[in-house]
Amino acid sequence: MSDIFCRIIAGEVPSMKVYEDEKTLVFMDIAGDVDGHMLAVPKKHVVSLFDCDEETLFALMSTVKKVSEHLINNCGYEGVNLLNASGKAAGQSVPHFHIHIIPRKTGDNIDAWPAFPGKTQEISDIYERIRM
Ligand code: 5GP
Repeated sequence: MSDIFCRIIAGEVPSMKVYEDEKTLVFMDIAGDVDGHMLAVPKKHVVSLFDCDEETLFALMSTVKKVSEHLINNCGYEGVNLLNASGKAAGQSVPHFHIHIIPRKTGDNIDAWPAFPGKTQEISDIYERIRM
């Protein structure tokens, strides 16, 4: 599998690397939609949360935490939003597992939480269907 993120990881496509270790890479997103938008990816090719083994997931989330703490401790940010789309139905456009990291400051006026259209079913009905 050679998606765009595999090619970035392999160094075939240039990227602005923020952090790298044996199992993970964090680089700037090219979207240009919000200041500081980064992507954290596992170097191992996994498509999404669903086919990600626990070791890879742990490595990725450890890196997300490390970079997020760096943003807070050394870069003047006060918080982060972490976003992930797993599956096309959820809006995933690149088939390589990634966590979007959006650095935040008080009053930055970034609306990182979608305006949901409102529920169409009773919460209790959905609860009965999805409870484990
Ligand atoms: P998704 O929609 O799958 O959650 O997010 C994919 C992200 O990958 C988008 O935010 C998009 O801007 C970013 N992206 C797509 N192609 C490239 C690329 O070639 N380089 C970088 N740095 N980011 C990319």
